[in-house]
Amino acid sequence: WLAHYPPEIPHTLQYPSMPVQEYLTQAHEQFPEKVAIHFLGKDVTYNELYDSAMKFANYLQKLGIQKGDRVAIMLPNGPQAVISFYGILYAGGVVVMTNPLYTEREIAYQMNDSGARLIVTLDLLYPRVAKVLKETKLENVVVTAIKDYLPFPKNIIYPFIQKRQTGLSVKVEHRGINHQFLEIMKIASTDVKKPDFDFEHDLALLQYTGGTTGSPKGVMLTHKNLISNATMCDAWLYKCKKGEETIMGIIPLFHVYGLTTVLILSVMQGNRMVLLPKFDPETALKTINKQKPTLFPGAPTLYIGLMNHPDIAKYDLSSIEACLSGSAPLPAEVQEKFEKITGGKLVEGYGLTETSPVSHSNLVWGERTKGSIGYPYPDTDSKIFLPGTTEEVPHGEIGEIAIKGPQVMQGYWNRPEDTAATIVDGWLLTGDLGYMDEGGHFFIVDRKKDMIIAGGFNIYPREIEEVLYEHEAVQECVVAGIPDPYRGETVKAYIVLKEGYTVTEEEFDKYCREHLASFKVPRIYEFRKELPKTAVGKILRRSLVDEERAKQSEA
Ligand code: AMP
Repeated sequence: WLAHYPPEIPHTLQYPSMPVQEYLTQAHEQFPEKVAIHFLGKDVTYNELYDSAMKFANYLQKLGIQKGDRVAIMLPNGPQAVISFYGILYAGGVVVMTNPLYTEREIAYQMNDSGARLIVTLDLLYPRVAKVLKETKLENVVVTAIKDYLPFPKNIIYPFIQKRQTGLSVKVEHRGINHQFLEIMKIASTDVKKPDFDFEHDLALLQYTGGTTGSPKGVMLTHKNLISNATMCDAWLYKCKKGEETIMGIIPLFHVYGLTTVLILSVMQGNRMVLLPKFDPETALKTINKQKPTLFPGAPTLYIGLMNHPDIAKYDLSSIEACLSGSAPLPAEVQEKFEKITGGKLVEGYGLTETSPVSHSNLVWGERTKGSIGYPYPDTDSKIFLPGTTEEVPHGEIGEIAIKGPQVMQGYWNRPEDTAATIVDGWLLTGDLGYMDEGGHFFIVDRKKDMIIAGGFNIYPREIEEVLYEHEAVQECVVAGIPDPYRGETVKAYIVLKEGYTVTEEEFDKYCREHLASFKVPRIYEFRKELPKTAVGKILRRSLVDEERAKQSEA
């Protein structure tokens, strides 16, 4: 595949041996007055960001946070998430990103598993943290409010916030005290003791995998892992000019995808990130129209939401140089329609938390192959193995995608057995099935775990979803294997219809029979208003299957 790289992308890269937070130090020296973050009408310059991050680090050190201590961030996208991230790293801590939608049980699990000593959260999320404090080793809670950084417009909706009480009247009767973020910014100094960093081995991040399968595990990512992946992304985006790009930050920063492609990449390039706390198509379109982002990382469901907005034509989206689509398969039909409507490029890439996260991508400027995840990144090797082994399958055949490169994690936190089963002979076994064609393009067929075995046939849900997406009435869909007494599993399609369409099960059956071998045709259809998704926009196929199992066992 290297032969197909454009001359601008080197096959091998130089990685600075420094900790991640040095990117902010450098951006602050180079672009002190440039805007680092734009958030709902307010700007934060690199000077302000650096100053705030150092103050936060000073405060953490005063509280006794030492090198290697885990510090959790449970915040939606906003300046505080960025300040906390860099502040924790300056103090020598290891960031534990926590999903703000987590329930009490999930928060307690993650705090205990990681052994976090402190958590930064939002006033409105605080009650959930307070409930589990006693079950954890948390010593301190830092509480911030959205309005700390904003003249907050009332029409911006935080569904999960509105349901909860507002105000900052939180009291912590625990080992520690609670600290208000804004107070810290007022009283802390920027005097930070610089810990000694071992760039290769020190952890920067414990990133819990989405939890779409099994119990969440902490992926150990070092400073080198994150620096490598950001350097690769930067090399791939060779036309981007330092200090001149605007990156759209809609995907959550608490997911490794947003963390690397927005939170780190933007600071590394001295660019401006435009953050939105939540995906809502209308706000996103308005923001793009006004803020003119040039780069827009997202997930297929997010692009689907935008392109189906009735007023999309009213907005000027022409500033976008590239939409980078990752985290789930991009149906060919969606790519085509999106590009037609917006005139912008939709470039599919691939990766996983365990690879910091990007390992493969289509070229942004140059040939792109529909349905393919593109080529491995520089310094990244990728092979197709017989699933669960390190034995290569014959060229062109389907097997498990394996990855080797400086972005591959150190392992799972406190789980040596899981680590040994996942990293074999230096190869990360991804659990995704795919193949490589003659031209060195990689294709994902499906996740190993999502493959359906019905009546002895192997069926890949993705193939059926591609067909369904070609139907004019389908807005979103997901196909899953549900338990069946005769076929072991049977194929079920969950469909969200576009507004104004009615299509019956029989019509879909006829349509699918025209396009698919009969053993792949869904036997059951369910029409829904929406599909359950993770915060990064991945459709939660597993939770639909679990729902089905529960229904069947009740029956
Ligand atoms: P996460 O660790 O949450 O980032 O999830 C990683 C998983 O997302 C991968 O193992 C894939 O199953 C899936 N994924 C990411 N990008 C793609 C893509 N372009 N096509 C298909 N699946 C993808």
